[in-house]
Amino acid sequence: MIDSYGRNIDYIRISVTDRCNLRCIYCMPEDGVALADHRDVLSYEEIEKICRILVRLGVKKVKLTGGEPLVRKDLKELVKQLKRIEGLEEITLTSNGVLLKEFIGPLVQAGISGVNVSLDTLSSGVFREITRRDVLEQVMEGIEEALKYPDISLKVNCVPLGIPGQEIQKLADLARENRIHVRFIEMMPIGYGKQYRCLTQDEIMKQLTEAYGIMYPVCETLGNGPACYYKPEKFRGSIGFISAVSHKFCSECNRVRLTSQGFLKTCLQYDTGRDLRRLLRAGATDEELQEEMSKAILEKPREHHFADPKIQEEDGRMMWQIGG
Ligand code: SAM
Ligand code: SF4
Repeated sequence: MIDSYGRNIDYIRISVTDRCNLRCIYCMPEDGVALADHRDVLSYEEIEKICRILVRLGVKKVKLTGGEPLVRKDLKELVKQLKRIEGLEEITLTSNGVLLKEFIGPLVQAGISGVNVSLDTLSSGVFREITRRDVLEQVMEGIEEALKYPDISLKVNCVPLGIPGQEIQKLADLARENRIHVRFIEMMPIGYGKQYRCLTQDEIMKQLTEAYGIMYPVCETLGNGPACYYKPEKFRGSIGFISAVSHKFCSECNRVRLTSQGFLKTCLQYDTGRDLRRLLRAGATDEELQEEMSKAILEKPREHHFADPKIQEEDGRMMWQIGG
């Protein structure tokens, strides 16, 4: 489906839960999280139905997200259901990795073809400081387990907060020794993220060039979106950057999002989209749902204005409710 700015919308990020087993400082509060009532969260059948219609509209790739997607019961059953949709080419997952060791096998068997693990540091002290939990070891075991499946792509996503001891070069080293793509994701000024100043792409590039020498640009497509990748010599994986504010890529945006409560969200910044849960539960037919979804996609905003201090408008949803 082509939106009104000529962009081909072929990718959806589906949040399956707003629950999480970590409390990352830039994403969730320490306590007092107002979680959705279970009845308000889409069932797997509802997600499958929405997905089936979106695939008719041209969506080809799905990323499952959260909250933490692996805390939702029987996620592999959803993957199996989605796998049956003709025309859906790829199902991947983004996870904090804490439960990955246990679930990666069944998920691969069910049909996922890639995992992004969010990991901001390899130092257990700093990990505890960022996530407010002491579970780095579990995450590393999850990554090791995932590496046992040669057919799935593995990415590590780091938000470079630039706090002492985060040691981003150690994370980048993961890509030297393993077939892992390590990506640095710029902080978005959403919710708690607004409080932090991150390292910039240029600062990281400088640091990594000093350590590894020339960073050769990689031309092949390695993900669902417009990350730019580089490969220093002798690296098995690569280094990527997703800098949605400083290197804005809205003109190439190919995605929409579905929240766990069934809102089809068409831009990260704005509250534009459709409440599909309300329509579904009010008995809308597939044709009516398709019509609303295509209208929502046509109304997708041209771009975000996160960097424009004059435009402070935002969606009240937090990153853990949106899914990143
Ligand atoms: N819990 C899963 C995880 O951490 O991968 C999935 C949901 S999480 C919201 C998805 C991604 O959003 C994570 O990589 C996280 O680091 C990132 N994230 C959270 N808040 C952010 C912010 N304000 N700006 C940029 N990325 C953010
Ligand atoms: Fe949980 Fe992911 Fe948010 Fe961290 S970034 S609190 S792991 S949802």
